[in-house]
Amino acid sequence: MRDMKQTADPGRIDPDRADGDRADGDHAALPPAPGAERYPALDFANSAPALPGGRILDLLGTPAAATEWLVEHGLAGDGAALQEVCAARLRDLREQVRALIATRIEALPAPPEALHAVNDAMTLAPAAALLAWEPSLGLYRAQPHPADQVADRAMAVLAADAADLLTGADADRLAACGSAPCRRFLLRTHARRHWCSVRCGDRARAARAYARRTKAAATS
Ligand SMILES: [Zn+2]
Repeated sequence: MRDMKQTADPGRIDPDRADGDRADGDHAALPPAPGAERYPALDFANSAPALPGGRILDLLGTPAAATEWLVEHGLAGDGAALQEVCAARLRDLREQVRALIATRIEALPAPPEALHAVNDAMTLAPAAALLAWEPSLGLYRAQPHPADQVADRAMAVLAADAADLLTGADADRLAACGSAPCRRFLLRTHARRHWCSVRCGDRARAARAYARRTKAAATS
């Protein structure tokens, strides 16, 4: 159930190029972008990375892959199994979070549909585990939702984290990786950092060196 509406927004994923193939060594070598360990919403936004050839690896591309991603991020229990409709909702929310990050970086107006999507996700389910009390257990925290609503809760947590990221002190350090075809976002660790990974930095430097050599050859 992919949204086929295409816009010129470079932050959007082209569904024709996305796939759910997780068995890809290229991705396994790529560590989370700076800041993505601290903000699950940033890792969520980066969950459909472009591989060096430009092909998109969608880590939420299938129900199994999306379930695995949620389990890895502590947003679903081991027994969880998302349906495709939930995986598709996660992918839709990801695109809206990407649109908000991209417009925040460019200091452009926030797209209203992205604000609605994040606010809907935040209010659909409580993000927090609720406080409960039983005679045998005393006070304890409990997930308020049955297992079939695991996606709602995960989306609430991710949307709330995105709202924190976009309005907190770190928002000014958000950047898009400057090494094409990479499309990951990062938190700059220093003012001049524009790459999400060593690999992207090396590739960008190699591309610059190649451009210099080509230009030198053309003018000599
Ligand atoms: Zn990158």
